[in-house]
Amino acid sequence: MKVYRHLSQLVTLQSAHTKDGRYLVPQDLSVIEDGAVVFDDDIIHWVGETSNLPQGFQGLPSENLRGHVLVPEIIDSHTHAVFGGDRASEYADRLNGLSYEDIAKRGGGILFTMSETHKLSKSELFELARKRLEKIFSYGVGTVEVKSGYGLTYEKEKELSEIIYELKIHFSPKFRIFNTYLAAHDIPKNFKNSKAYLEQVVLPLMKELSEKKIIDAVDIFHEKNYFSSDDVRKLFTAAKSLNLPCKIHADELNDNQGAEIACEFGALSADHLLKISKPGISKLAKTNTVATLLPGTAFFLGKPLAPAREMLDSGVKVALASDFNPGSCHVDNLILIASISAAALKLNQAELWAAISLNAAAALGLKNQGVIAKGMASRFSLFKAPSLAHITYNWGKNLSVSLI
Ligand SMILES: [Zn+2]
Repeated sequence: MKVYRHLSQLVTLQSAHTKDGRYLVPQDLSVIEDGAVVFDDDIIHWVGETSNLPQGFQGLPSENLRGHVLVPEIIDSHTHAVFGGDRASEYADRLNGLSYEDIAKRGGGILFTMSETHKLSKSELFELARKRLEKIFSYGVGTVEVKSGYGLTYEKEKELSEIIYELKIHFSPKFRIFNTYLAAHDIPKNFKNSKAYLEQVVLPLMKELSEKKIIDAVDIFHEKNYFSSDDVRKLFTAAKSLNLPCKIHADELNDNQGAEIACEFGALSADHLLKISKPGISKLAKTNTVATLLPGTAFFLGKPLAPAREMLDSGVKVALASDFNPGSCHVDNLILIASISAAALKLNQAELWAAISLNAAAALGLKNQGVIAKGMASRFSLFKAPSLAHITYNWGKNLSVSLI
């Protein structure tokens, strides 16, 4: 056991946790000034003001962390961090006026990254992803969700899921990887349609990877010209029979009732939601499915943002993630995304910090964390800052401190 004492601010999110991450007001941060926390490798034993530290804990090894802020572990719950090549030329084309369709016709988009990914070996892809993840962790993130999805053949998708599994072992236990299977990301050209690809590759491989206990969840790109509502239902039904949690890229380019389908299947999260409908918002508000917003993507593509305020005011559980990927959002810094999003999405501080810790944990089905309280997992993030506000106020500056 050890003690962190004299934390300038200990942000527990106790009240936000009690309120299940919904309808949050600034006080729900539940900040303890000059705070202390007693913990071991697994759980938290005591939380309070340093001056109230019980006698029995006084002799434990301790760190004086005056000038630091401790928050529940920051989680990036949506990334596509395993890929080959980049899409900088496509980005330039977009700035110079080409449409998404023009770019796709010229061989750009997900299928371009697929071909760049196929050029690299398993060890090369592992090494690239390992370096990217180290960067992500350097900002204070403790758990990262990583999706497959640039292999798009049976063998390459299998390889990507195995790479993510090997990264999980490599970074464990300090940093945690959540392995999401997204073979249903796009439809390779040699398949007649989405149904054929789903049946020949996505479903059988999901079964194999699930039986080997390599993957933690399944995801699908639900969009016109990609995967239909029928495809989503087929995939989610099969996933349920394997006890695999579901996630969905939903209502990004069009309202496809993706949020509604996510709720119908009790999905962990529905992600993007730029075009979500009012009925979609009401459904999310009544369920535990988290709305994961990815504002970096909308910023980078110059699109209007998701209706975050409407969701929050309706009682939806909202998370924020980076969507780190080579095409639409090549940013690895979730704290920077939080800094920019707070004002743009009109989030108060409790909504903002819950969105990257408590609610992000829910978006990955992680129990027992997202709050600094006795009996909860000892997973937190530490920043060298006199107050919580300093962390996102200094946007683009990395104030994270490696946990001691
Ligand atoms: Zn995505």
